[in-house]
Amino acid sequence: MNTNDVLYIVVPCYNEEEVLPRTAKCLEEKLVALISAGRVSDRSKVLFVDDGSSDSTWNIIMELHKSNSMFSGLKLSRNRGHQNALLAGLMTVKDRCEICISMDADLQDDVNAVDQMIEKYREGCDIVYGVRSSRKKDNVFKRMTARGFYGIMKLMGAQTVYDHADYRLMSRRALEALSEFKEKNLFLRGIVPLIGFRSDTVPYERGERVAGKSKYPLRKMLAFAVDGITSFSSRPLRYITVAGFLIFLVSIVMIVSFIVQWALGGTVSGWASIVCSIWGMGGLIVLSLGIIGEYIGKIFVEIKQRPSFIVDELVDGNDGTGAEDGESTE
Ligand code: UDP
Ligand code: MG
Repeated sequence: MNTNDVLYIVVPCYNEEEVLPRTAKCLEEKLVALISAGRVSDRSKVLFVDDGSSDSTWNIIMELHKSNSMFSGLKLSRNRGHQNALLAGLMTVKDRCEICISMDADLQDDVNAVDQMIEKYREGCDIVYGVRSSRKKDNVFKRMTARGFYGIMKLMGAQTVYDHADYRLMSRRALEALSEFKEKNLFLRGIVPLIGFRSDTVPYERGERVAGKSKYPLRKMLAFAVDGITSFSSRPLRYITVAGFLIFLVSIVMIVSFIVQWALGGTVSGWASIVCSIWGMGGLIVLSLGIIGEYIGKIFVEIKQRPSFIVDELVDGNDGTGAEDGESTE
């Protein structure tokens, strides 16, 4: 078994002073167990990312780091939100580890799933998603909004892993691929599946927040959902085009039916022409908006500068160092 694989556990923290000492203890125990079982290198660490907390979160991280070199910290200049804090952490550990696992600070994600994630990594997966096995612990409201969210995402054509929060393992090359995505409007759950590579899921039971309050009130949750949908799809624009076309079609049908009725002598004069113009013009206006939208959609895709491809493997006799096959320089 390869014990040289350095594991970094990345934990974004925003005003988590109440829960952080317990989280640290829990992660330390896990890491020590993994190291002594020889499953990860003894240089493995936990990286806490302080997302501009206004409480003593950073002091706690500093204390932890002083007392145990297993803990490291990254402090952002101000609060940038969970996704940005997480990305900052991932990009920091990218060149320092072979395996990285991201999880929340509140111990909602079952730490024991880490073992299975590493197991899958050993089997050759580059990305392992932690997926909630049930939503029993959630209230009806959260459950329904979550279901609605994944449903809409799917309808809009954005690929997400169902019931997966940001608890996941990523290999070094998956992190490198992630760094190729230049977009600023971040929604990691949508981007990570775009990376590709061999991936798998590990089910886990998501518990209650151990201490402190949720940093995701309804307002932030809605903003997160809208961001997720609008950054991954220009399909809403296509729907506008289709709607405009359908409305225009209705006006054509109306005109035909009014002509028929007129021929049969059954129309009220004046009414038909007004209704037809309203539907006809309305349809054309919406259709034009849709067409403009299509172009904006193209700009939207271009401006993200996403990588056109990510290479999984290259099999080539030439190793790129100039040495030809058979003429080994060894
Ligand atoms: N978080 C963060 N920045 C923020 C909000 C949240 O880094 O602006 C972190 C928070 O400390 C936690 C994780 O994101 O580790 C998830 O937040 P929370 O548990 O409050 O969300 P919930 O589980 O209630 O959806
Ligand atoms: Mg939470």
